[in-house]
Amino acid sequence: MNSRTLDSIAGFIALCLLSICASAASVHKIGPDLYAYISDNDSSANSTFLISDRGILVVDTGLNSQEGRKLLDEIRKISPAPVRWIVNTHYHPDHRGGNSVVGPDAVIISTYETRMAVLRPQHQQDAETGQQAAPEYQLNEVFAGTRGPVLFVGEHEVQIYHPGPAHTMGDAVVYFPDQHAIASGDLFLTNSCPAMDNGDMENWIAALDQMLALPVEHVVPGHFELATKNELRRFRNYLAELRDQVARMRGHGLPLERIQKLLMLSAFKTFRQYPQYEATFKDNAAAYYGQLEHRRPRRNGRKADEH
Ligand SMILES: [Zn+2]
Repeated sequence: MNSRTLDSIAGFIALCLLSICASAASVHKIGPDLYAYISDNDSSANSTFLISDRGILVVDTGLNSQEGRKLLDEIRKISPAPVRWIVNTHYHPDHRGGNSVVGPDAVIISTYETRMAVLRPQHQQDAETGQQAAPEYQLNEVFAGTRGPVLFVGEHEVQIYHPGPAHTMGDAVVYFPDQHAIASGDLFLTNSCPAMDNGDMENWIAALDQMLALPVEHVVPGHFELATKNELRRFRNYLAELRDQVARMRGHGLPLERIQKLLMLSAFKTFRQYPQYEATFKDNAAAYYGQLEHRRPRRNGRKADEH
């Protein structure tokens, strides 16, 4: 091998490294007029957008104005139409931080719980600073109960619903029947442990079963790679396995710390785990254990209802 060949190999490797470092968000067309935006920042949520000549609907807008700008730049490569609707799947900032950049005049669609969770901490802040926080929530169509609005964007139907408490108390899921696609919010993350808010693990699994029963081919997760039902099912099976193990061991009187040590989840060892977001096997076990404690507290290692 002469030095020129070595030089060109080195150049090629440098180019590959550069392209890895500069990896950008990816946009995938997943059906007629429908696109998945897969973020290149693990801390910022994915988005989904549906375009028509008269207006665009966007599901989730990323962590902050910078991430929102990246998303809007990608949307503008495809359509110049105004962003008229933004669905925030839940209140976590990484799903709504780009709202005012992506759609300054858009109507925000969310569950009632999401609105309350967004605005609750800010009332106090507003009083202190005199500033109005989350101004995009001035135009907010909320829904209570499980059935949200059905929208038509161009010729495509969009069904928004609340599956009950799951990742949070107020998750919204967006189903695109024409495109056989669904935007799950953080009810599903590809190949990863989720973070758990004060939702409901058992209802969460039921919500995933409900999604799996739909004729869906593309699943846009809250974070990470675009997925199909296969990855969705695997994630569902992880939660179900965790639920079963925690409930069984707790039923035998084991304390949480012992349960966390005894968990057998090697089938899911490739799942990402993020201690900084409390998104590990142990954190997920603790969250579910906490839900069970809340429902059926124990006294002296025995179930309260055994007394
Ligand atoms: Zn979340």
